[in-house]
Amino acid sequence: MHWSTNPPRRQGDDFLGNMFHRWATRLLRSLSGRPCFQIYGKARSESAWRIIDVYATPRRDRDSRWPPYLFRGVCITWTTEIIVVGWDFAEEVLRQQRDEPASCEQPVQVAAGRIRDPQRRAAVGAPPFPRASEVLAHECGHTWQTLRLGLLYWPIGAAFTLFREGPHWWNHFENQASELGQFGGIVRGSVCEELMWRLSRPRPGENESIIQSNGLSASTLASALSRTQQQRSS
Ligand SMILES: [Zn+2]
Repeated sequence: MHWSTNPPRRQGDDFLGNMFHRWATRLLRSLSGRPCFQIYGKARSESAWRIIDVYATPRRDRDSRWPPYLFRGVCITWTTEIIVVGWDFAEEVLRQQRDEPASCEQPVQVAAGRIRDPQRRAAVGAPPFPRASEVLAHECGHTWQTLRLGLLYWPIGAAFTLFREGPHWWNHFENQASELGQFGGIVRGSVCEELMWRLSRPRPGENESIIQSNGLSASTLASALSRTQQQRSS
């Protein structure tokens, strides 16, 4: 299953696919409440950044009782505008962005274009396992695929996501998301209160005084994030 970077699409397919994605986005938003934050995302081949809602659910946490592969510890891109992750993953992204904020000028990309190939990653000096921000860049690659594939995104995604990355044609869906996805940072003022609260808690091994001595209260985090992020387009 190969498709080029800019496959020709019939107009009818685009219209129907886009309409369905808009309808699905509205439905998911009405069911999911407020996103935990919004991000700038796109594929390398796109010139303009898109704003994508990231929703968090405990079903996708690493210690969730929901089944693995579909839920536990898994991020999923539902539509062009919606990515769903675990609360623990969202917290990890925010911690990384607090320390090393991405921007549209310096977006996060998946090192070596692979999240599950330690050797290929080592060849470019990257750690063997991807950071949460890289995984989010991979999901941004999937949002681009929703634009290209329209209605076909869901059946193709369902069929090929579980094959992961690799050298075969059936790995192309996942390879492409890793090669093209770009995460351009968190949208200013979009982080929800619960995530701010989570970030202000000490982690195991950290104590309250360390958190406070670093000025990591929810309010300072909010202002730090808004200072590092600027509203951008294209
Ligand atoms: Zn994927």
